[in-house]
Amino acid sequence: MSDQHVEEEVHLKLDGTPPCPQCGGVALLLAQFPSAWRNNRGEAVPGLKEALLCPACDHGEPAAAELLALFAVDDQISPENLEVFSSLAAAWIESVRHRTVDEERLESELESWRRGEL
Ligand SMILES: [Zn+2]
Repeated sequence: MSDQHVEEEVHLKLDGTPPCPQCGGVALLLAQFPSAWRNNRGEAVPGLKEALLCPACDHGEPAAAELLALFAVDDQISPENLEVFSSLAAAWIESVRHRTVDEERLESELESWRRGEL
């Protein structure tokens, strides 16, 4: 497991994951990764984005479903399944990253709106 490719700046947490914001259920995995989107002026805005893997909400996504299937078989990440887990997690993060672009923009707008209100 020493020479496998690790996604840059992506952090995965299996313990202490917060509840799913959509259904309040138990999320299996929390991923933190850099968000790269552009603001109104076309400037890249660095930031950290979080994504939760929820068995109830995410099983419809192909990449998430494969990852959930792995959790269903092995409830722990071990040296034996780490490689499979890493590649499935990377694929899932890729899909989440694309899906959340609009949400990030919305969050940023909400943030500006809140600041304006206060
Ligand atoms: Zn959920």
